[in-house]
Amino acid sequence: MIRLEDRFDEVRNEVRSSLLAAGRGLEDTKILAVSKQQPTTAIKTLFKAGQKDFGENYAQDAIEKMERLKQYNLRWHFIGQVQSNKTRIIAERFQWVHTIDRIKIAARLNRQRPENASPLKVCIQVNQSGYRDKSGVDESKISELAHAIMEMPALKLRGLMTLPPVSSTTEDKALFFERLKIIKQRLVQDGIFLDTLSMGMSADMKVAIAHGSTIVRVGTAIFGPRSRKKI
Ligand SMILES: *Cc1c(COP(=O)(O)O)cnc(C)c1O
Repeated sequence: MIRLEDRFDEVRNEVRSSLLAAGRGLEDTKILAVSKQQPTTAIKTLFKAGQKDFGENYAQDAIEKMERLKQYNLRWHFIGQVQSNKTRIIAERFQWVHTIDRIKIAARLNRQRPENASPLKVCIQVNQSGYRDKSGVDESKISELAHAIMEMPALKLRGLMTLPPVSSTTEDKALFFERLKIIKQRLVQDGIFLDTLSMGMSADMKVAIAHGSTIVRVGTAIFGPRSRKKI
């Protein structure tokens, strides 16, 4: 059996070699370890190997893990679809949300973020394919959403996130990633501060890094297959 630490090392090496191949700096892309449906023991192992950022899709499961891992200094990123009835616990317990696609959800998070907490770092999820469930805002509406978020003091807009359709080819993914990079550049030219492109997962981190990803969200390549249970 391959040890978790060894798979993690392999992923770190792949990220480094992809950055080198792209002519980018070795610190330019961070790894977000996607721990959904993975046990807390695995999270502890990765923490000991130096990983601090973990991504979860289900708020309730994540809260249980946070409770069990209280003594560790971890950063939690919400990467699932944000439901209105979950915004309070997300605003209270997470440091990042990658999947903002509606003003209404952003406004709830802004209102519910505790006063003593630093602003919640957020990315706008962009729907580039037009058919992947309902998640993600259409390109034409990004600017409006970005401006709205900038007016919300408890949120800090950091970037854009995309999730290409699973069925897309590497060439298609390269187009989606490149397009997101260009959208980000345009928004920056319009005076919107953005330093993050959350793109790339286990299967496509290399191509995402080649197109400017600053955060790859990696689950299976680090942890192995997910269990059927949610936690
Ligand atoms: C599950 C998930 C990932 C990780 O996927 P892997 O293919 O296991 O690396 C990344 N991003 C999002 C939004 C996810 O839901």
